[in-house]
Amino acid sequence: MEHSAEKLQLAAQRTANVYAEIANRLLGCTLPIPVPLSFNLQDTDPKTAGTASRTMKLDINMILLEDNTEYILNDTLCHEIGHLIQFNKFDQKGTKIQDHGAEWQEIMRVLGKTPHKFHTLDTSRAIKHFKELKKAKKIKKVISKGDEE
Ligand SMILES: [Zn+2]
Repeated sequence: MEHSAEKLQLAAQRTANVYAEIANRLLGCTLPIPVPLSFNLQDTDPKTAGTASRTMKLDINMILLEDNTEYILNDTLCHEIGHLIQFNKFDQKGTKIQDHGAEWQEIMRVLGKTPHKFHTLDTSRAIKHFKELKKAKKIKKVISKGDEE
């Protein structure tokens, strides 16, 4: 089945919002809804499926989302929302805790997930994209340098 990028991003946004709603209602969090979500990770960190920042933003690897939609929606998004919960519940109260530590693992279990730090997805297409992007950027630089002179 083919998914347009727009549809995939909408599905990811809805899924993230649902997890954030659960966190806010059941765990007493104050996560922003809609969850600030971007899809640029493939351009900077092609092997990583998702990241969560302490500014309460998620970034998702669009290529891995295209290739492994079910996994990213079911596992990665919940994993990253788990970090937002971790930041929200512990960090903002002045206790900086370890990523993927006991607290985060407990959050994953509460959300009905098995806590795991690493994914086992095939990242070859994302790495290929990243290499091509780097190559294109280098060429762009040479061209713009030429324009200046
Ligand atoms: Zn993590």
